[in-house]
Amino acid sequence: MAPPPAGVPTQYLPIQHWVKGGQRRPEWLKARVPDGEGYREIKETMCGLNLHTVCEEARCPNIGECWNNHTATFMILGNICTRSRGFCAVLTGKPIELDVDESKRVADAAEKMGLKHAVITSVNRDELADGGASIFAATIRGIRERIPCCTVEVLPPDFKGDRDEGPCSTRGPTRSTTTSRPCHACTRR
Ligand code: SF4
Repeated sequence: MAPPPAGVPTQYLPIQHWVKGGQRRPEWLKARVPDGEGYREIKETMCGLNLHTVCEEARCPNIGECWNNHTATFMILGNICTRSRGFCAVLTGKPIELDVDESKRVADAAEKMGLKHAVITSVNRDELADGGASIFAATIRGIRERIPCCTVEVLPPDFKGDRDEGPCSTRGPTRSTTTSRPCHACTRR
């Protein structure tokens, strides 16, 4: 079975047809059990530094492919989100105490992985006064100081719409920093 044509979202393909018709799903639709040298290296780094990735926490099916290509997305502010969304596999609950050393360990991991571009997202921490913005800013600074040539892309929470907070507010560093829109802040058209 050929892969989906470029530009055609998978959701529009007749997946149900294969399921109902009892046909085998095409190879490109099957997620493999992740393994491989790159995968194991990143797993070891993240476990060793007690860090989280959205790749694992959200059970992303691309994890084997991405990690073996040395691509991963850090998830900071712990691994327990204060918001619940039916489509999201990240744990919801009461988060543990803020880990103020996390930003340093993310820089350690970025250095160890030899990153030229670091991507950082987080859980929501609505119980914190700044929503975790200070940790975002510290993480960006930490990476910039440790690896000056590394660009940083952040996908922060919505900080409940507070424009004074966030890693790209006046309190945060902006040099070589890209801010993208996280899934949970997207609205439907
Ligand atoms: S980098 Fe993105 S697409 Fe790749 S495994 Fe992680 S979350 Fe999934």
